[in-house]
Amino acid sequence: MKWWGWGEQDVAFSADDKPKFGPFLREAIGVDITRPPARLPDLAELEVPDPDVPAALRAELEEALGADAVSDDPHDRLVHARGKSLRDLVRTRGGELGRLPDLVLRPAGEAQVAAILHAALEADAVVIPFGGGTNISGSLDAPAGEERPVLSVDLGRMDQVLGIDDVSRLARVQPGVFGPDLERRLGARGWTLGHYPDSFNHSTLGGWIATRSSGMQSDKYGDIAQITRGLRVATPHGLLVVRPHPAASNGPSVREMILGSEGRLGIITEATVQVHRLPAERVILGYLFPSWPDALAAMRDIAASEASPSVTRVSDAAETAFSFATKKGDSLLDRAQSRALREFLERRRGYDVAQMCLGFIGYEGSERHVREQRRRTQKIVAAHGGLCIGRGPGELYDQKKFDTPYIRDFLLDRGVLADVSETAAPWSDLGKVHDNVTAAARARFAALRVKGYIMSHLSHSYHGGACLYFTFAFTAVPGRDALEDYADVKRAVQQAFVDSGATLSHHHAVGTEHAPWLEQDISAPGVALVRGLFEAGDPGGNLNPGKIVGAAKPAATSG
Ligand SMILES: Cc1cc2nc3c(=O)[nH]c(=O)nc-3n(C[C@H](O)[C@H](O)[C@H](O)COP(=O)(O)OP(=O)(O)OC[C@H]3O[C@@H](n4cnc5c(N)ncnc54)[C@H](O)[C@@H]3O)c2cc1C
Repeated sequence: MKWWGWGEQDVAFSADDKPKFGPFLREAIGVDITRPPARLPDLAELEVPDPDVPAALRAELEEALGADAVSDDPHDRLVHARGKSLRDLVRTRGGELGRLPDLVLRPAGEAQVAAILHAALEADAVVIPFGGGTNISGSLDAPAGEERPVLSVDLGRMDQVLGIDDVSRLARVQPGVFGPDLERRLGARGWTLGHYPDSFNHSTLGGWIATRSSGMQSDKYGDIAQITRGLRVATPHGLLVVRPHPAASNGPSVREMILGSEGRLGIITEATVQVHRLPAERVILGYLFPSWPDALAAMRDIAASEASPSVTRVSDAAETAFSFATKKGDSLLDRAQSRALREFLERRRGYDVAQMCLGFIGYEGSERHVREQRRRTQKIVAAHGGLCIGRGPGELYDQKKFDTPYIRDFLLDRGVLADVSETAAPWSDLGKVHDNVTAAARARFAALRVKGYIMSHLSHSYHGGACLYFTFAFTAVPGRDALEDYADVKRAVQQAFVDSGATLSHHHAVGTEHAPWLEQDISAPGVALVRGLFEAGDPGGNLNPGKIVGAAKPAATSG
């Protein structure tokens, strides 16, 4: 993983084979992507402060884990210091490193995790569990002024599938496994977890659980909150065990308390998760809708119907235009095909192509099941003026979805600040949320005098509502504080969420990034309950302090 950006070192987004991308960006946000990109930062030029750990604590950790599993390597400490939000990338690229962990620890099993916790609490050190470091909510950073030793606990060596109960369709899995390894190991035995966040290649099961993650096929498999049934968690009070009951009436759900707890209650050492047999068939089809209200209504009716697709996703007109701009190729045939499609849509279907919305709907299961689901969905799509455009666009989306995040680095290299904010609301509020958020962002672009773009898609449909996912971008103004301007827009988007009846986040967690909106989302008594939970679970305030509701206890001074 790049320390200054997204994904593998040798993979990058290229606009060379996408002829419409440059003109689109010039029109949308006034950037010229043919200008030479900024120079990438050089690790050797950064001033990495020395670690500060009492010798006795370090000796105890080395004794428990082995010296090889205790690192103070500068690159290691840098990579473990924060996640991958726009704010993280801008600060890191600018040499603003924040409070780095003093040590990175790599336990090999539950007993070693417990030993770390024991040693850390004895020494009043801060412990921050680390999965893949992909969160975009400020969920990993140690507080700026933290004076206690900071230990980052990387769960990467705990990556095994420990067992599969074929009868109950439950797998026991260690928390540090990355998406591809987990699916490979389950797939070898004919199973799948079915959890595919866009960060799949670089995020882990433990991170998904600790942030309440959601994957693109959540319509079928559920969010990680539904997928996770049992848990083992090393806590300051000992090993917490949640047994994998399908449901239980045993008081407030301890399972739910751990879900989304961002390392504040302990370190997840094992999870029991629901698994499914690999489907015989998997298809993602592309659809076009005449307008956003039509698209929204179709998705709502599909959720209310007997159709049960695995993926439902539809972009608004702005995101549809963006998707077409990132299309590869511009051959004569491509142009003829797009002209023919355009004419067909305008003349035969009465579309205004500027308002048109692109959607993807996925189906999984037996051949018969897929055929039946497609038939049911098609009826609803047609009733809202939509039409199916076949497998091609869906297959392309499916192959490219994990590459899309690389676009953000490409843009950042060219001075463009691009970020995402997502939410969820009941069906009856979604139209209002979409319009209010779009208007709020545009108002801030105007106030900042920047040429900005905001686009959105609906994904993750539920019986009662869905997730709306916004992406916004604008070109940083030379001489101004880019992060200040960015925060201005981000704040407006988040505020519009809660003001419109939506949540502060559907699947990106709270961290420090979204904490200012927690009380408006869950009410003051709700915040008091969460704070009380953290104070009781971690009386010393040692576990990932400052996330979700601020520090349980002010940071103690050392010495
Ligand atoms: C490009 C991009 C695309 C993304 N797409 C999606 C998406 O589609 N869906 C989605 O849900 N999210 C998405 N995210 C956000 C991010 O990937 C998720 O929040 C993910 O769940 C984080 O997992 P991680 O392993 O990287 O955790 P980390 O970032 O390492 O940690 C996240 C939090 O979990 C805690 N934690 C990690 N492991 C443990 C453990 N074993 N025990 C206790 N606490 C632990 C950490 O302390 C931290 O508070 C995306 C992020 C990026 C940058």
